[in-house]
Amino acid sequence: MKKIGQAIVGDYSKFHFEHRFINSMTIGIFIACSVGSANRFFIEIETLETLLTLATALVFLVMYFISRFLMKFDIAKWLTLSMSYVVLTALWLGGAGSRGPIPYSYFLLILSIVLLTAKWKKNMLIALVVVNLLLLYLVEYWYPELINNYADDIQRKNDLFFSLALNNILALLIIWHAKSNYLREKHKAQQADTLKTAFLANMSHEIRTPMNAIMGFAGLLKKDGLSNLKILKYHRIIDDNIAYLLRLIDDIVDISKIESDELTIDIQELDLDMLMKYIEDSVKPTISKEKKADVLLFYEKSGKCTVKTDKHRLSQVITNLLQNAIKYTSKGYIKFGFEKKQDDVIIYVTDTGAGIEKEHIEFIFNRFYKIDNENIGTMHRGTGIGLTIAKKIVEHLQGSIWVESVYGKGSTFYVKLPFHP
Ligand code: ADP
Repeated sequence: MKKIGQAIVGDYSKFHFEHRFINSMTIGIFIACSVGSANRFFIEIETLETLLTLATALVFLVMYFISRFLMKFDIAKWLTLSMSYVVLTALWLGGAGSRGPIPYSYFLLILSIVLLTAKWKKNMLIALVVVNLLLLYLVEYWYPELINNYADDIQRKNDLFFSLALNNILALLIIWHAKSNYLREKHKAQQADTLKTAFLANMSHEIRTPMNAIMGFAGLLKKDGLSNLKILKYHRIIDDNIAYLLRLIDDIVDISKIESDELTIDIQELDLDMLMKYIEDSVKPTISKEKKADVLLFYEKSGKCTVKTDKHRLSQVITNLLQNAIKYTSKGYIKFGFEKKQDDVIIYVTDTGAGIEKEHIEFIFNRFYKIDNENIGTMHRGTGIGLTIAKKIVEHLQGSIWVESVYGKGSTFYVKLPFHP
């Protein structure tokens, strides 16, 4: 049922609420007018009225097509709203004026205006409804002969009750649509709030730990009679913690740029083989720093390859994947490289580390998601934003990122990029 609904109205990921609303409004009016004209045909209302209702159905079917399949939301919205005025006026005059069912439909129009527009546009459109109704009243008052009338009272009752039922169903659908959207947005906002609170709490821990280390070892350096070896060691600890804090700040800046859609990408031609060698040289020292003597890190030479992409951002992604691999691997190897496919290049980073349990795999690219796993041994530093940043960058480069992992054995992260974005 949900799938059919989404096929007709469009799914949440591709269509925002207003767009889905226009889709359902146009298809709703199409169905209502088709059924309405069939009903009018059977209760033998004048052919002109029946034809008018049928023409309305067709106009809204075209609007639905423009909105749902051509994805032209703005065009469909303004066409739908302005056509609604024309169609309702024609149906009022061609129908039975204030004796017929069209006055009910004006409630639906006002409801749609309120949901789809804001500020002065909303006020202007509502003022237009008032003027429209006033003009219709004057026309009906001064030229009653212009308005069609029912053949008899039974016909009027049939038309009125049928249209009232249809209008009520449409109003119900509109309100239900708005409410379910409101509840979904509220749930999303609450979830984001909880995640943000957890992130902030974790962040304060992530900042305090290196800060304490810096302050503690800077204090120790003041002591008299320290050996050169100790001074060197304390300096290294302070440097490492400062580097960690700087990385953390970079990550925070990146995630906020991503959230506000301000991530800039600078596409240029680049030699992937050279970039990989450069990354290998710059990441290797981390292995000894993290005291991972049993871990071998190497770049699997993969031939020459030129891609058009953002060099700085791509190297940020690969470095991040390698640093994660180092963090979660205590023995074995970490290898990385790339494979050329027809129109794409697939970069991989493989480790023989802790691996990721199946239940976590679909979430690890989510914001602030981190796995606290005692089985890995030590608790690892992390804020749960590294992979989110990597995923967003790769998407900006028009590629995709995914992971294959066997818990306890290791993981391989893949990044697929087009040669020419
Ligand atoms: P963090 O900064 O916490 O590492 P990430 O977004 O980089 O955040 O990673 C999210 C989670 O994915 C981590 O908490 C970790 O449990 C898991 N993870 C990432 N890379 C690996 C890997 N190579 N091996 C095992 N687990 C990994």
